[in-house]
Amino acid sequence: MAEKPQQKQAQEEERQACIEQVAQLMSVRARGAVPLAMVRTYGCQQNVADSEKLKGQLEQMGFSFTQDETQADLILFNTCAVRENAEYRVYGNVGNLKNIKREKPSLIIAVCGCMMEQEHVAEKIRQSYPYVNLVFGTHVIHRLPQLLHRVLATGKRVFERGDESAHREIIEGLPVSRDRDIRGWLTVMYGCDNFCSYCVVPHVRGRERSRSPQAIEAEFRELLSSGYKEIVLLGQNVNSYGKNLDEPVSFAQLLRRLDAIEGDHRIRFMTSHPKDATRELLDTMAESRHICHSLHLPFQAGSNRVLKAMNRGYTREQYLALVAYAREKMPDITLTTDIIVGFPGETYEEFQETVSLVREVGFTALFTFLYSPRVGTRAAAMEDPVPAEEKSRWFQELLAAQEETSAQRSQSILGSVQRVLVEESNEKRGLLAGKTEGNLNCDFAGDPSLVGSYVRVKVTESRNWVLKGDLV
Ligand code: SAH
Ligand code: SF4
Repeated sequence: MAEKPQQKQAQEEERQACIEQVAQLMSVRARGAVPLAMVRTYGCQQNVADSEKLKGQLEQMGFSFTQDETQADLILFNTCAVRENAEYRVYGNVGNLKNIKREKPSLIIAVCGCMMEQEHVAEKIRQSYPYVNLVFGTHVIHRLPQLLHRVLATGKRVFERGDESAHREIIEGLPVSRDRDIRGWLTVMYGCDNFCSYCVVPHVRGRERSRSPQAIEAEFRELLSSGYKEIVLLGQNVNSYGKNLDEPVSFAQLLRRLDAIEGDHRIRFMTSHPKDATRELLDTMAESRHICHSLHLPFQAGSNRVLKAMNRGYTREQYLALVAYAREKMPDITLTTDIIVGFPGETYEEFQETVSLVREVGFTALFTFLYSPRVGTRAAAMEDPVPAEEKSRWFQELLAAQEETSAQRSQSILGSVQRVLVEESNEKRGLLAGKTEGNLNCDFAGDPSLVGSYVRVKVTESRNWVLKGDLV
């Protein structure tokens, strides 16, 4: 036990030394100019939050940022493995870097994130993309200084992934370079233990582990004092937050602790898993001062047989009961969801149960995905007889059903006055953009000085829940 703090200190010293050496080596490569990094993020908000930590570390090493690949001294892609097309996009974009690297051999190319936690992907990069210098997984993002240093000092390619113990670790204290200045991401937990049969996340993000409420509250207060007005708590399944802490805390308890903090900010969270969403959580939302009445609650499929095969842990009836309770407590709540179309063995009749659930609930937005087989998951070994073209037709049918339901419902907001947090100003169009409590985008004319404040907007147009309005 006594060795642990010493080990930690040694690692920290190594890290600091690498930060300084990378700064020197990069400054030489950039011929004395400030070295530029281009960071591109694929996938979910968790990846966005990870990229902010990667950028924070790059800043420590003296980098500034560019969007222009041809100007960059370092290109870093933070990748997503959740579906095939996300992976294809990454391979395509890495392929496109070949010519840029040919023009500029000193360019460092790095790829990281969920895809790189998979052995077969790292191997493909090793074999087919020899100009990629650095490959590392989600569990070692805090080692970026050491990894970059190894690439620069040896000129060799570096590959690193987390071992079993890294899948259980939480790293605190990394610098964060935030992309936005009104809405801030705050990770409350890492990993996932649910092993939904289609999903690669538990395989690449490791075991579920929660940050301490103290660390979360400290970061929350830091965000507020930097002027953030909307804080989004992140986790793959926030509803199981805190179960494994030494002193267990429920997510509702964490929310109450954060809600007690004074200020004119808002709180949102994602993602909620229906199997762990409790009435206590919904009561907490209803009674809170800061938590927005909007909930992302993925149901994935409407048929109980499919839900079971997906290992989701709830039934259609339980899902509907939860939604009914949420609406009873918060009549103004907006609901969004994720759906998978064409899970292996799903029949057209079973798919119809997804369509009917969509009609029954009336979601503000759907995030719909065609099932995509993922290496190492249970569903990838299941029989999948329905042809891709047929699944695409089902997909279109689902979108049409949503459009119909949504068109009726979204009219109901016309003429209402909404409290909008102004997030951006588009000076060219003379418009401000913000979000309602219900997480709907709203554009209206106004002065850029209003960014960061709350305004009242009368809704004059509502198309697919995208609102236009006038300042009141
Ligand atoms: N933790 C979140 C979701 C993370 S992945 C949750 O449980 O709700 C985001 C979404 O991608 C999932 O909700 C699911 O709809 C979709 N998804 C995940 N794996 C998929 C796969 N193999 N094929 C198609 N969609 C998938
Ligand atoms: Fe994937 Fe299920 Fe975990 Fe969400 S809860 S990340 S869908 S395994």
